[in-house]
Amino acid sequence: MPDPLDDSPAAALAALRQVMEAAERYLPSVPTRSALPSSRAAASRLDLPDGEGAGAEAAIGELIEAALAGATTSTGPRYLDFVVGGATPAAMAADWLTAVLDQNAAGPGSAPWATELEATVLRRLAAMFGLPPSWSGVLVNSSMLASFTGLACATQRWGERHGVDVAEQGLAAAPPLPVFASDLVHPTVGKALQMLGHGRRCLTICPGVGGRVDLARLEQGLRRHGGGVVVATAGDAGTGRFDPLAEIAELVDRHGGWLHVDGAFGLYAALSERSRYLLDGLARADSVAADAHKWMNVPYESGFCLLREPALLEAAFGMPPAPYLPPAENGFRGFSVLGPESSRRARSLPLWASIAAYGPDGLARMVNRHLDAAAHLAARVRREPELELILEPVSCVVCFRWVGAGPDDVSLNEQNRRLAEAVAKDGAFALGMTSVDGKLALRAALCNWRIGPAELDEMLDRVLLVSRRLGRSAA
Ligand SMILES: *Cc1c(COP(=O)(O)O)cnc(C)c1O
Repeated sequence: MPDPLDDSPAAALAALRQVMEAAERYLPSVPTRSALPSSRAAASRLDLPDGEGAGAEAAIGELIEAALAGATTSTGPRYLDFVVGGATPAAMAADWLTAVLDQNAAGPGSAPWATELEATVLRRLAAMFGLPPSWSGVLVNSSMLASFTGLACATQRWGERHGVDVAEQGLAAAPPLPVFASDLVHPTVGKALQMLGHGRRCLTICPGVGGRVDLARLEQGLRRHGGGVVVATAGDAGTGRFDPLAEIAELVDRHGGWLHVDGAFGLYAALSERSRYLLDGLARADSVAADAHKWMNVPYESGFCLLREPALLEAAFGMPPAPYLPPAENGFRGFSVLGPESSRRARSLPLWASIAAYGPDGLARMVNRHLDAAAHLAARVRREPELELILEPVSCVVCFRWVGAGPDDVSLNEQNRRLAEAVAKDGAFALGMTSVDGKLALRAALCNWRIGPAELDEMLDRVLLVSRRLGRSAA
């Protein structure tokens, strides 16, 4: 029995049915379930055999019990820590279908249907964000890899300007690449630069008011280096703030260079008329990175990079064909030569299902719901004398701190650090922490499709309860 060769098609269906039954138990509990599991040790208790296996039914049964006990409820409306969406029903089911079909979306040779669907989804994503039809790109697992993709193309272009084919000759043949960003830049951009061989030190921060880029310093830098790459952050994970894209694009146009926009979650603000202004100038960028597993509520791993000149992708990521690989179809060799991955999951299915099921209008309504939720939470924080709103929310992130004790920022920081720990230990809600102008604050990222004002009121009640308990135990 514990030999995959002996497993009949019925065994696969039985195993999927086990998962379906687990989902029937789990999913109804998601809206009210604690964000964090009570048991952290569940995974380490799971053992793996040395010799014979237990068979699919026993293995899946054991995995389900451990997973339900140990997983964070990050798809639920009480999980407000990392900027994560939940999986909407259509996207979740399509992700399941992706596993059933298990396509290798490397290209038309391995999976023609999934490859075509990916091209369709990329065209639609570009259109949804107001980018011209000549834009295209590639699906990747995350915003980190999406920024890696955009910055690899920027590197290729930088090399071309200096007579170097970086893909062929390497970086050493070209002058060092200057990269500029604001304090809002995400650490994964530095990671992408280090992976590309530029080293994190190539990044110059131009600190300005409110974390946004200082345009005068940026212009100085671009002028001194005769151009370069500018990474603009459209929605920073810590506070939800945006760099001014149109003003940055103006400078990049004037001095030459490449504008990469990291819109991991913030790109979706373009879907709503209320927040679209935050992305004014987006279409003047050269590359845009985003995640669908954040504000679009598609399951992990769902990032994408869109580019003004998609032809650069093959210049940066192409590789000579292996003898066993099929020839290109009309010059199109597939996404394995248009991005960092070779064999790849068919990520287009959940994206397609999400857009097909909810439409740009439905997704825009979801964004509006979260803008309303952020305004609701901010208003409630303002009314609570023990709390302080650290920033007016501009998108779906709200930062606040407890000011019920301590006369100065130093002791307030310590109090808020302890409060964050106590909230995490309580586990009902997951909140993040961030630091704004030296003030440690609690951070709620509101982008799960189920989040409404009720959860947020409950969350604040809980935070106040935990903080009063802390105050009492300290006294
Ligand atoms: C989340 C986030 C990232 C990283 O996204 P991954 O999907 O974890 O790679 C990058 N930039 C911003 C602004 C983010 O919010």
